[in-house]
Amino acid sequence: MLPTADQQARARTAYTAYGATTGNLNHLGKPMPAWDDLPPTIQQAWTAAAAAAAAYTRNPDPQFPASLAGGHALVLEYGDCEILASCQCGQRLGTSTPDRPLDDHATTWERHVINL
Ligand SMILES: [Zn+2]
Repeated sequence: MLPTADQQARARTAYTAYGATTGNLNHLGKPMPAWDDLPPTIQQAWTAAAAAAAAYTRNPDPQFPASLAGGHALVLEYGDCEILASCQCGQRLGTSTPDRPLDDHATTWERHVINL
């Protein structure tokens, strides 16, 4: 599933912040490539890391993990002509079109949170 424009922008912002801290050098001390020159897997990793950081919940409620306070609430977004489902923790749960019922996303989310 492709990240939304917001998710991509957040990942780029995190990547830029990393570079601002290291003098635009990577972990090997070599110059960091421009965002657009990063391999897709690395862009996806930054996108996932930025999403997890954005979804971080301080002191999550362990008694109710499948809630906003617990950090794992179901999130449904209307994107570019599609519904994007994810967990508050950043785990992506899938996409669908607006003409489809949302029940499948709830089922996927239940499978995600059942073992928390
Ligand atoms: Zn979650």
